Amino acid sequence: MIQKSSKIWMDGRLIPWDEARVHVLTHSLHYGLGAFEGIRCYSRADGRSSIFRLREHVQRLFDTCKILTIHIPFPAEAIREACVEVLRANGLAEAYLRPIVFLGDESLGVGASDMSVRVAIAAFHWGAYLGEEGLRRGVRCKISSFQRHHVNVGMTMGKVTGQYFNAILAKREAAALRYDEAIMLDIHGYVAEASGQNIFIVRNGVIRTPPASASILPGVTRDSIIRIAGDLGYRVQEVPFTRDELYIADEAFLTGTASEVTPIREVDDRPMGAGEPGEVTRTLKEAYAEIVKGRSVRYPEWLSFV
Ligand code: PMP
Repeated sequence: MIQKSSKIWMDGRLIPWDEARVHVLTHSLHYGLGAFEGIRCYSRADGRSSIFRLREHVQRLFDTCKILTIHIPFPAEAIREACVEVLRANGLAEAYLRPIVFLGDESLGVGASDMSVRVAIAAFHWGAYLGEEGLRRGVRCKISSFQRHHVNVGMTMGKVTGQYFNAILAKREAAALRYDEAIMLDIHGYVAEASGQNIFIVRNGVIRTPPASASILPGVTRDSIIRIAGDLGYRVQEVPFTRDELYIADEAFLTGTASEVTPIREVDDRPMGAGEPGEVTRTLKEAYAEIVKGRSVRYPEWLSFV
């Protein structure tokens, strides 16, 4: 359940949480043409708060809208400022931010043009997405019977609202079978990503993650981990790999803003390595936590202060 805060930024101003409503004939509600983001703000040991990679998340929101031919009626800078404003207005030192861009309710024609473009940003508390235990011990995953979109069907570079029905089906299927998370293959049969996270494997010290052509959402956390791992001296390869390569990996983990770096402890009932988070996963998970929580002096360009 969402933990309500008091204000939501909507179409340029802060309004009470309960008044941030839309009409039932909202175009995006019917057809799924909308863009959204998930961003985290962390409180730091020095008492301040910082948003992790705000610039990149807002850029991806604009990229998604470009793919969808939606014109956001605000410049990127105003959206970044609104993210800070909504955190301050709610007195939140640590929060998950959810910006969303969607079409209004003037028409229900599929190809309707001249539609209003609405923008909202909510901020609220959201703990570990796959649970504290999952974050610590690792999660159990199932290869899904649902595949990720073909790159010329879903626009997989974008964080498109409508695209998530497929992720929901995969996640529900995995949950019904008592797994924590679904891992989806692309249409060629290669490992793509989880329902809301990118995936990495480690074998003989080499880290691998599927390339963007595996119809993944190019995650901001994925990009951060590639950079951090490289800077720590690990070899990182963006290459396709198969489900059996995942089965026999020494380690595997998921990355995402909400899930951060979550170890995988089992895939299709096969334990990963020793069945507990491996050394590379632990190192990267810890390094990521240090950076986002401002306990590291590295990558200052990734932090925006509130
Ligand atoms: N893949 C999908 C399908 C997602 O929804 C997310 C979460 N935004 C990710 C990957 C991870 O992206 P990020 O690291 O930017 O949160």
